[in-house]
Amino acid sequence: MTEFYDTHAHLDFPDFEADLPEVVGRAESAGVTRIVTIGTTLEGSRRAVAIAERFSCVFAAVGVHPGHVDESPDEIRDEIRKLAARPKVVAIGETGLDFFRRPGAEPVPEEVAAINRRRQESLFRQQLEVAGELGLPVVVHTRDSFRPTMELLRCDGAGVRTVFHCWVGSLEEALSVVATGSLVSFTGIATFKNGAAIRSVAAAVPSGTFQLETDCPFLAPVPHRGRRCEPAHVADLAPVIAEVRGVTLEALSKETCATARGFFQRMA
Ligand SMILES: [Zn+2]
Repeated sequence: MTEFYDTHAHLDFPDFEADLPEVVGRAESAGVTRIVTIGTTLEGSRRAVAIAERFSCVFAAVGVHPGHVDESPDEIRDEIRKLAARPKVVAIGETGLDFFRRPGAEPVPEEVAAINRRRQESLFRQQLEVAGELGLPVVVHTRDSFRPTMELLRCDGAGVRTVFHCWVGSLEEALSVVATGSLVSFTGIATFKNGAAIRSVAAAVPSGTFQLETDCPFLAPVPHRGRRCEPAHVADLAPVIAEVRGVTLEALSKETCATARGFFQRMA
């Protein structure tokens, strides 16, 4: 069986509470030998660490997602440092900027939106600072915020390696990310009927610059689309990526696993 890693899962979400051992077991049976479970709040990061300590193939990233900054303390550096000291923590995140406004949602007054943006920036900077201090990579979430994210990283992320997870941007943007030494990563969106644009990015990015992930419980690849996604589904994403890149599954396995071990160095 060909080996792959799920570099971005949310195993601490309630979706997995009832059957986590079976979920991890199915991943292993599908050849998914390592899983990075990603925190999105301080509480969730604690759960992520506990899950990583429970299953040998699971590692954790600890951080506060931009969508959860309003529930977060203003100052998170000490807590992130404390969590990151645990041996199975391999990255900080997910963090980043998310300026998406749901179409049809109640309009948010500009001053409220501005406060939220400043909070996102402050917590993103704090996580970059701790990552820089500890020599850990950062898992970046960006939505409708590509330029400000790149700009903040340029100013405050010097020397920190990042992965822009769940890549849905253009090839040009992906190339500008990898030119800085960072990575992009592809989810099950690449298997969707309407995922042609992502497939063409996945076909064209240089070798060694990308990872595979599920972002489960979201974004289940075809043929599981619409159901709960889980780490085993990397096995459904990998053949699509191998095909568009014109490489064998074995070659893709070797390449992406080496990239992930180089990125999440504590996982090596
Ligand atoms: Zn995520």
